Amino acid sequence: MAHNYDALILGAGAAGLMCAIEAGKRRRRVAVLERAARAGKKILISGGGRCNFTNLHCQPENFISANPHFAKSALARYTPSDFIALVENHSIPYHEKTLGQLFCDRSARDITDMLESECRAAKVDVFLNTTIQEVRHGTEFTVHAAETEFLAPVLLVATGGLTIPKMGATDFGYQIARKFGIKIRETRAALTPLLLESPDRTTYCDLAGVSTEVIASTDHHAFREAMLITHQGLSGPAILQISSYWNKGEPLYIDLAPDREVFASLRSSSTRNIAACRVAIQLALPNRFATRWLDNHLPQRWTNEDLSRLEQKLHQWTIIPAGTEGFDKAEVTLGGVDTDELSSKTMESHKVRGLFFIGEVVDVTGHLGGFNFQWAWASGAAAGRAL
Ligand SMILES: Cc1cc2nc3c(=O)[nH]c(=O)nc-3n(C[C@H](O)[C@H](O)[C@H](O)COP(=O)(O)OP(=O)(O)OC[C@H]3O[C@@H](n4cnc5c(N)ncnc54)[C@H](O)[C@@H]3O)c2cc1C
Repeated sequence: MAHNYDALILGAGAAGLMCAIEAGKRRRRVAVLERAARAGKKILISGGGRCNFTNLHCQPENFISANPHFAKSALARYTPSDFIALVENHSIPYHEKTLGQLFCDRSARDITDMLESECRAAKVDVFLNTTIQEVRHGTEFTVHAAETEFLAPVLLVATGGLTIPKMGATDFGYQIARKFGIKIRETRAALTPLLLESPDRTTYCDLAGVSTEVIASTDHHAFREAMLITHQGLSGPAILQISSYWNKGEPLYIDLAPDREVFASLRSSSTRNIAACRVAIQLALPNRFATRWLDNHLPQRWTNEDLSRLEQKLHQWTIIPAGTEGFDKAEVTLGGVDTDELSSKTMESHKVRGLFFIGEVVDVTGHLGGFNFQWAWASGAAAGRAL
């Protein structure tokens, strides 16, 4: 059986659905082909089930790409306000959690219901349980899926990245890019917990669950948010954010007591001993972590110089992580289809007319906090409006 459309979209995730809605509203006949049994599976698990669907303070600086200018055009033409207007049209209750991050009050299901209802209104056909066997390109694109053949002059690849393979993530989008001679930037897991090397792991990981506000930094980037000790290393927003910039083998610096001079009282006191030091550090850090960290960094003497060095170590705890927890635990994929290959206005390939890439499959990666969905909405809308 053959179906003819104006555009075929591979993947019913955030980018694919937004693209379909925008194209459908412009009366294009659109089919979305999705391998899973339902649309927007990743949206449903996002934001702890409440979907952090955008960020009020979205700026191009919140995105990582080999070309930091690429995302600007799409982000400027579909802004957080545009998505918020859609959410409000559907009377979905939401709130700002922190740092401009907007979450559903009830559940992420509100967002998938909204997108599905917009697809119906725009007369978009969504084909679920549709595993694609082959993509061919002649005068049109032909997509083979089981007994069915889909034909259209336009093909949009919205198959996402490599995160959470057990939910079905594959490199399908990159395979299509390669098939058409389109360059890929090396991919790796981002927004992912870090693993500690064994001495640090033995020392700290029995404190799993302890959390504290830190500034986590590499030589060029820093994030001030919570850090969480896990059974194998470190996580929490500050660590997830910095993981996107950290490269294996490099040190990571953690300011455990931002803006505080923890040992100042000791320097001006004649009572200088472990007990006084513990009291001071416990005012800045959770007790168990404070004690453990101090026991592992005790000064040899209690001179002002030693105390200054201790203060410095506290503000620049230096670790060399063993690695990351990888794609199994990552929120997003760094790298992907090289932006040099695509129009920043429409997401269309320069080489292959009618072939578009949108969403996470492209080498544009957001910070934690709703930015990755904003990129999916914005790139999807840019392509959908160009059809
Ligand atoms: C646990 C977790 C929580 C997250 N929370 C947030 C958050 O709160 N806020 C935020 O901004 N970002 C969050 N993200 C990131 C965000 O989910 C992604 O960046 C976003 O979903 C990317 O959208 P996409 O449409 O490009 O890809 P996806 O949403 O991954 O959609 C791709 C779709 O393509 C389908 N597909 C793949 N291969 C094929 C194929 N061969 N044939 C047909 N269909 C195929 C997949 O089944 C999927 O439905 C989170 C990610 C994870 C893993």
